[in-house]
Amino acid sequence: MKVLVSAGTYYFIKKQIKISNTAYLLQTGGCRASCKFCTQSALSTADKTYLSRVKWYPLELEEIKDYLSTFDRVCLQTVIKEGFEDEVIKVLSKINSRHKSVTITPVSDALLLKLKELGVDYLGVGLDTVKSLWKEVGKPYSFDYYMDFIKRAVKVFGARHVYVHLIVGLGESEGELVNTMEELYSIGAEVALFAFTPVKGTPFESKQRPPLEYYRKIQKIRYRLSTGKDSEIAFLTSGCPSCDRPYYNESPLDRTLYNIPLRDFKWS
Ligand code: SF4
Repeated sequence: MKVLVSAGTYYFIKKQIKISNTAYLLQTGGCRASCKFCTQSALSTADKTYLSRVKWYPLELEEIKDYLSTFDRVCLQTVIKEGFEDEVIKVLSKINSRHKSVTITPVSDALLLKLKELGVDYLGVGLDTVKSLWKEVGKPYSFDYYMDFIKRAVKVFGARHVYVHLIVGLGESEGELVNTMEELYSIGAEVALFAFTPVKGTPFESKQRPPLEYYRKIQKIRYRLSTGKDSEIAFLTSGCPSCDRPYYNESPLDRTLYNIPLRDFKWS
């Protein structure tokens, strides 16, 4: 069974150079949904071995599973395709890692319980945008269906163990974005922020990236909602413990990073 591994994870497997604390995996085959920002979307003509601006490499899970267990966490990104739920179970059953995360679209409670049984301690959910932009962004199901799923997931994984992904810069108003984050924290979820990244071949390829000042403001608000404090380090990548996803939103050549991946990263 093949899985896609992120460029950073691939370099560790091939050259033993570790640039992230988490190993990142992605299901093969592309997604049936039509999210307009996403390279995996059915609407995208971009190479399906890209997610955001990161290149991923197909490898046999059996051949790489021992490398994966040397990371602090393994994070599996799912797509919507025929049999994706069964494949998730098979992939997780083969990985012997201390900590596992799965990012998934709405599924049954029975599958959530199975994921927990297979060692998943944090769940990711790509809500991605606010209610008023749902159709324009092309998200599957409905906003309310996702919110109900997030509540069900919090019941299974516990408070603050469900990270809801939000993309800043899809055209949302600041007020609706902040209200959405407040609602998510009030139901026991956490928020992981991404900066919108235009990728060639996607319907949103010509949209602009969000201004950094706006992103910084949203990062500070998220940090305060999460911890109750203001902090100088609000700009670190937000997500599960050990989540870093380096250069997911920006090129290594960019002088300023939207998300700073490591605590000891030197600001240039
Ligand atoms: S559901 Fe997720 S993987 Fe599928 S197109 Fe939307 S963002 Fe991409």
